[in-house]
Amino acid sequence: MSQLTDPFGRDISYLRVSVTDRCDFRCVYCMSENMTFLPKADLLSLEELDRLCSSFIDLGVKRLRLTGGEPLVRKNLMVLVEALSRHLKTGALEELTLTTNGSQLTKYAADLARHGVKRINVSLDTLEAAKFRAITRWGDLAKVQDGIKAAQDAGIAVKINAVALKGVNQFEIPDMIRWAHGEGMDFTLIETMPLGDIEGDRTDQYLPLSQVRADLMDEFTLDEIAYKTGGPARYVTVKETGGRLGFITPLSHNFCESCNRVRLTCTGQLYMCLGQDDMADLRAPLRASDGNELVMGAIREAISRKPKGHDFIIDRDHNRPALARHMSVTGG
Ligand code: SAM
Ligand code: SF4
Repeated sequence: MSQLTDPFGRDISYLRVSVTDRCDFRCVYCMSENMTFLPKADLLSLEELDRLCSSFIDLGVKRLRLTGGEPLVRKNLMVLVEALSRHLKTGALEELTLTTNGSQLTKYAADLARHGVKRINVSLDTLEAAKFRAITRWGDLAKVQDGIKAAQDAGIAVKINAVALKGVNQFEIPDMIRWAHGEGMDFTLIETMPLGDIEGDRTDQYLPLSQVRADLMDEFTLDEIAYKTGGPARYVTVKETGGRLGFITPLSHNFCESCNRVRLTCTGQLYMCLGQDDMADLRAPLRASDGNELVMGAIREAISRKPKGHDFIIDRDHNRPALARHMSVTGG
């Protein structure tokens, strides 16, 4: 057990850190085309991010995931990754990992592997170049595919995450499963979540995974398995491909009861729940002294108010973001 147990008895052992709110893509479900980003002066420095992460590790956090925005567009991110890898060497940290859009992986895969990153998640919603451009607005599919290859060549296990989008990639999902499993990668489907204003109608995008799963069963045999990564995904194996398929269903199935995570933004705000507005500012206690005692006290206090769960809803009556905050702030 870590030293961080919330009021509902959940042990907090997993920290997700958004190292930047910026991104080189503008995915339609995540950002508007003209996003206003935080002034660079508001960001925590890499040293401050290291101090914060190390405080969480001292309190018993075992898994750390860097995310964003796009984590690999944060300048000198490898300096942070290398610094954090010291906790892997001591065994205090069990896993250091990353969620990325893959666009910069050809450049960084070897460094990530060298610093002890053993698996990463790459977000990819389609294998059709034109559709990929339409979803990401700015992305280049070939670059991402090269990035995935570079990660695998460096010995990093890749899991593909795809957001299920009604009428967009809905009918491509079986092909994507065959592709991912054929390349030795797990594949996880995510439901869209109502976070942030995006210039569009979310009820148009929302595709319940219960429906996807039912459709997949026309083509595949899905066997329930107990496999867990400490995250909210539920896994099955696909008999025909031999690969693993995960479902993350925040809307149609509530997974809060086993939530073991909290999320840190690049300005030092700690969100105890992705689906609630309550947060704790860790930047002030971090900057108030050179030691980490104050910030560790603030972390403990924050965990003592982790809420029981979220209340996301997407339907015709609630066609507004449930939260004004974009996913790129808290990193998903
Ligand atoms: N840029 C990186 C990436 O795309 O993997 C990391 C950050 S991104 C915010 C993390 C994940 O959140 C991605 O898999 C993305 O598809 C997902 N995401 C973004 N907005 C979402 C939304 N409104 N609903 C569900 N998933 C979303
Ligand atoms: Fe960028 Fe990831 Fe959001 Fe797409 S999902 S815009 S890649 S942060």
